[in-house]
Amino acid sequence: MVNRTVRDPSVLILFLLAIIGISSPASSPAAGEPQPDPILGFSPAHAVAEHGLEAQFQSLPSADKAREWHRLFTAEPHPAASAENNRLAAVMAREWRRQGWENVTLRRYDVLHSRPRSVTLEMTAPLRFKASLREDPYDRDPDTKNPRIDGAYFGYSASGDMTAELVYAHSGNPEDYELLRKNGISVKGKVVIVRYSNPYSYRGFKALTAEREGAAALLIYSDPAEDGYSRGAVFPDGPWGPESHIQHGSITYDYIVPGDPTTPGWASVPGAKRIPRSEARSLPKIPALPLSWRDAKPLLEHMNGAEVPPEWRGALPITYRFTGAVVVHVHVDMDTSIKPYTVVEARIRGSEVPDEWVLVGNHRDAWVYGGVDPVSGTAAMLELTRSLGELKRRGMRPRRTIVVCSWDGEEYALTGSTEWGEQFATDLKKKLVAYLNVDEAVAGAATTAGPEGLSFEPSAVASLAPMLLEASKSVRAPSGKSLYEAWRATAMRAKKLPAPPADSDLVETRIGSGSDHTVFLNHLGRPVVNLGFTGDYGVYHSAYDDHFWMTSIGDPTFGYHTTLTRIWGLMALRLANSDILPFDFAANGAALQGFLADLQRANKIDPERLPLERLNDHIAEFETAGEQLREVTLHDLAAGNTSPQRIQHLNEQLLQVESNWLDPRGIPGRPWFQHILYAARYTYAHLEFPGLTEAVEAANWQQAAEQADVLDAALLKNTQLLRSAASSWRSPGSLTHGASAP
Ligand SMILES: [Zn+2]
Repeated sequence: MVNRTVRDPSVLILFLLAIIGISSPASSPAAGEPQPDPILGFSPAHAVAEHGLEAQFQSLPSADKAREWHRLFTAEPHPAASAENNRLAAVMAREWRRQGWENVTLRRYDVLHSRPRSVTLEMTAPLRFKASLREDPYDRDPDTKNPRIDGAYFGYSASGDMTAELVYAHSGNPEDYELLRKNGISVKGKVVIVRYSNPYSYRGFKALTAEREGAAALLIYSDPAEDGYSRGAVFPDGPWGPESHIQHGSITYDYIVPGDPTTPGWASVPGAKRIPRSEARSLPKIPALPLSWRDAKPLLEHMNGAEVPPEWRGALPITYRFTGAVVVHVHVDMDTSIKPYTVVEARIRGSEVPDEWVLVGNHRDAWVYGGVDPVSGTAAMLELTRSLGELKRRGMRPRRTIVVCSWDGEEYALTGSTEWGEQFATDLKKKLVAYLNVDEAVAGAATTAGPEGLSFEPSAVASLAPMLLEASKSVRAPSGKSLYEAWRATAMRAKKLPAPPADSDLVETRIGSGSDHTVFLNHLGRPVVNLGFTGDYGVYHSAYDDHFWMTSIGDPTFGYHTTLTRIWGLMALRLANSDILPFDFAANGAALQGFLADLQRANKIDPERLPLERLNDHIAEFETAGEQLREVTLHDLAAGNTSPQRIQHLNEQLLQVESNWLDPRGIPGRPWFQHILYAARYTYAHLEFPGLTEAVEAANWQQAAEQADVLDAALLKNTQLLRSAASSWRSPGSLTHGASAP
């Protein structure tokens, strides 16, 4: 980072107080006291103001209020398209209006939705057993007795009715079917049972894999090895899943194209044109069901075939076998029809640059109550919006516009955010500075986390990693340390390192899918950040992910919720108020070097087949250009050697860099995914240089060379852009039209 010096902070403070008319924050230093910390992208004067504003902001989030929001939004099950979830859209709109937000709008999308009409699973041989497909009630948690809790089903499962032999296929990944084949077992026409297991893969990938293998139906159960008693105490005594817990979910192939399966690439506004369902690439053709281990155990233990290898065994007290003797009847009847979804949107209009937007958001729909997923995020968001509304009431409007959205149908196919992003694509590509997503704010049990507390596990595009690190130093974690120190300590613990990782390794800059950031990053080329805490958590997507879990096991003090609100708000405020947008393309270049090195290491690429020297050199040049631009602009900003015109022109160029990573043709086979640095694998795992990496992994050397050229061209374009930004910054006289804000 550049060191910036303030010549006389007291003068700057007076100057700034006079200009923006805020009352002097208690923390303002007097003349002669040490200068306040600089903030990336802020002039010294504006950094002083920002610190004052942030001190006020940080005093506002309330743990008691977060708990109240949490109760309000977990009162009833509220899956997408349910009456309760639609009622909560109106509640959200009402609260945002009360909090002083502007342009509160409900956006309606008509979406191909999926609900069960009837579902049964029974074993017909060697003996009869009927699966309950339900989760048990507990006296200690009356919410578990609610008759409106759904039984087991998967969103977008195909319908079907079949009776067939059962085969156990471990995690249901392609290599598992390979092993079955080696053992002479085919799954064609059979019912396959797999576990939610390690290595993690998205259930929609398990479904596609089973479909490709020709299976008749798929059952996915939660083995206690993964999220149950072998991890620790189970609900309601501890954070892990009890015997009847079911991981509900969708199996949509949204890694091919997310959102409404019948409007790929455009918005499902009422009346939108649709493709026939038979052409929808994201709709599964296989019937599937999730199971608790209690329902799965009788099926597994009555098999009589060959034993599985040790790595396929779970933690049930049975002998795990491939197959034999067990015949099951699966009946899945789904109602797949158009239903309205609602995205709630609001904004606080920026005072100076209203056409640059900072977007914050969280989804509203839950599989059941959503105690963690998403209501921990919702509670944190409502404290964020309440606090920002209060700052506005005190006369502190952000310079840029802050937009907030409550997404719908995230659990089905990232649907609400995808449709909204597609509807406003043109505006968003021009105006969106960044999207700050929070899905699960607190996905872990503070009560079992130990003295270091829950892990802070954010991810961010590499250009925003430095500002995230910087902001974390200004927020206090529940442990009493700075969030930055707590983050280092838990990262060290998680990765079993002898010392805290370097700053450059602290931020996860590899970003997969599975939440609402996807459309903004992968389709629209806008920078994204995901924020959240993690820890012991075994009731994901089950009925036990509820208010009781959060208040007695997860975050009883709600201290993690308010910490999350604070870091989220600081990121939003800094992006909204900075002079120069705090993108760091040197950090971006360094991360790309790492991505390329990983690709080469993982694939042992023969340089004769695919020379990557040039790509490597071009990444280095991009990094250098980013470093030079950063140095010159931040130096001048610190020295007060800037003008609003120069800054505005620079910011337009900085925004353009992120857009230049888009290839309008998309990555091969997945045209909706247009970002050439980031995509997700079918498993939802992160995937860097997606076009190149997938071609290399498929040993398709011609396509790999083409994709390397695509990357090369974008790198050259962006290096050129950074250089020309630096040169027009150095000689402001050369500024042409368009430099000033409209
Ligand atoms: Zn979620």
